Amino acid sequence: MTREPLLAFFFPRRCPFCNRVLPYNAPQAAFCAACAETEKRLRHEPPRLPKTEHDFYVLHGAAAAYYYTEEVRRTILACKEYRHPWYARELADRMLVCLWGAEPPRHPGGRPTLEPSALPRYDLIVPVPPREPDSHDPELPRMLARRLGEVMALPVREVLELTRKIQPQKTLDREHRLQNTKNAYAVRKGEDVEGLRILLVDDVITTGGTVSACAQALVRAGSAEVFAVCIAASETLPKEKQSK
Ligand SMILES: [Zn+2]
Repeated sequence: MTREPLLAFFFPRRCPFCNRVLPYNAPQAAFCAACAETEKRLRHEPPRLPKTEHDFYVLHGAAAAYYYTEEVRRTILACKEYRHPWYARELADRMLVCLWGAEPPRHPGGRPTLEPSALPRYDLIVPVPPREPDSHDPELPRMLARRLGEVMALPVREVLELTRKIQPQKTLDREHRLQNTKNAYAVRKGEDVEGLRILLVDDVITTGGTVSACAQALVRAGSAEVFAVCIAASETLPKEKQSK
């Protein structure tokens, strides 16, 4: 976090969809003019995820800022695999705008403003833990959670851990994804989540198996409720959202 001003100096804010350096008057202070239309089209509206598209259990609900299309996938890959971790901040800010109606910053690099009354009452933000604990990849859920916590003024704690090895979800079909993650998470020893309302953060929700398994671990440990949020949800793209 302390490195942020330094990073911003060396890496001017860029459009997360195309990597162009953003002008001072960029739309939403987040995108270049060329990507602004696409960004609007790909918003998940309303953000709440329909149960018909996912296999949720235990979770109180879930929401996404965008549909998981090729454009959004590339942006997420840029964070995770091509080491552009500063996009995590841009994407977390978009979650604040799309999910809770935060006011976008005036200029790139600013901070969205959130009406405290607009915020459902959460006690704690928890990122979905890394699937490969030893990996050196920047962990997107963790980075998103930190930025959300900063703007929402909520604590962030990495209370979850994997209890066994799981396969990468993308290699599995729907049925096996649920099996793959079921009972695979637990609350770490010494972490107390009793009675807490938790905001669980992941980068992408596909079947919902991972966030549901995390929610189950949290509720077993005494959490009052768990709501999951992500950048993008993998769903059938509504007709009006498809590109012409
Ligand atoms: Zn762009």
